[in-house]
Amino acid sequence: MHEAKPAGSTPGAMAGSAAGAIAGGLLSGDPARPETLSDRLASGVLSLINREGLNQGDPLPTVKVLAAQFSVTTPTMREALRRLQATDAVELRHGSGVYVGAGVHRTLMPNPNSMITDYAELAIQLVEARLVIEPGIAALAAQHRDEADLERLELALETATRSPDDPRPHLYFHRELARSSGNKVLYEIVDSLLEVRAREQQFLRRLITDRQRDYDEHQAIVVAVRAGDSAAAESLVREHLRELRYTVERTERQVSAPPGEPPTPRTRE
Ligand SMILES: [Zn+2]
Repeated sequence: MHEAKPAGSTPGAMAGSAAGAIAGGLLSGDPARPETLSDRLASGVLSLINREGLNQGDPLPTVKVLAAQFSVTTPTMREALRRLQATDAVELRHGSGVYVGAGVHRTLMPNPNSMITDYAELAIQLVEARLVIEPGIAALAAQHRDEADLERLELALETATRSPDDPRPHLYFHRELARSSGNKVLYEIVDSLLEVRAREQQFLRRLITDRQRDYDEHQAIVVAVRAGDSAAAESLVREHLRELRYTVERTERQVSAPPGEPPTPRTRE
């Protein structure tokens, strides 16, 4: 199996992670309360993930099998898994499929109390930040990707064309690109950025109306990464994100245009 390299995949890192904090009873809001059966099960599943060296998208045994393994009923097991799902440590899918979630090794969590309403402005800043970071990541990915990275990038490409209800694991292209850089810190930065700014990111995604072009651009990036062409990968990602920034800026202008003055239709520059 491929030597996986997500952020914090060493066994010791789990203790400091968000998922580890849940296992420690943080979800209850009272770290001093006695450990419940659900805590122990959650912690047991996290240990299992760690022990087996599993990563995001890897399948876990079904709820039924896990329940048998931990000698509890299926509903009890499901409850423990739902708690892990709340922080993306696992992902429960239709038909009892359980997968390792994107947040299993995550060290940073979004603030659920955040009251931000001006998504457009923050979305522009999110794209700016990504423009600073991601072209360089693409260049590194072209140098450091291995076969398993390329497989995951292909899977991420395909994820974008599938229905959200599709039971197979969902991989997100830009996360996988960062993972392919072989640099855990950069992966963590991109993962955290997309997670902490998830609402702005959703706002951005809703603006992408031309899904086919988005797919084609991602595919061109994968071709460059596969070919080991750092310069091409870098400039393709830069163009891809500039296009996104242009889209969000154009939307901003249309939203803030004075009434009675229709927004000027513009084509891609
Ligand atoms: Zn993209």
